[in-house]
Amino acid sequence: MWNIIHILLGALIGKEINSYFLVFIIALVTHFLLDHVPHWDGDYGKEGFFKGKGFNVRKGLILFYVCLFLIGAFITLKLTLKENNPRILFGALISASPDLANLFYKNKNKYYQKYLNFHTKIQREARFLVGFPLQLLITLVLIFLLVR
Ligand SMILES: [Zn+2]
Repeated sequence: MWNIIHILLGALIGKEINSYFLVFIIALVTHFLLDHVPHWDGDYGKEGFFKGKGFNVRKGLILFYVCLFLIGAFITLKLTLKENNPRILFGALISASPDLANLFYKNKNKYYQKYLNFHTKIQREARFLVGFPLQLLITLVLIFLLVR
């Protein structure tokens, strides 16, 4: 699932729920639930990744994800400051963390590798024509809910 969706949903959870503990739990659980919704992540070399060879992503796709990340981070930071509510930033960080953890895929710790396998296995993919519009719609709904 696109990182911006995890970031914005985490921010929304932080905005609406008045407990760091609950924000932590709900932001983490919803990350894995969202990953299980059929989505389009582009071809990031899932087969190779699963065999421990790491990601194999086209540069254009990396740029796309960096842009989504920056938009999500910008909205989150602006809202955190506007509402003077650090839970918004906290929720976004927690919600994004399971994917950020993927960046250390070269670490061979067996518990970490088990986590990577779990995180990879729960992904459900959809073809572009279904997965892209669905994620765009979710992103726009989340932005609407955050700035209303
Ligand atoms: Zn994920």
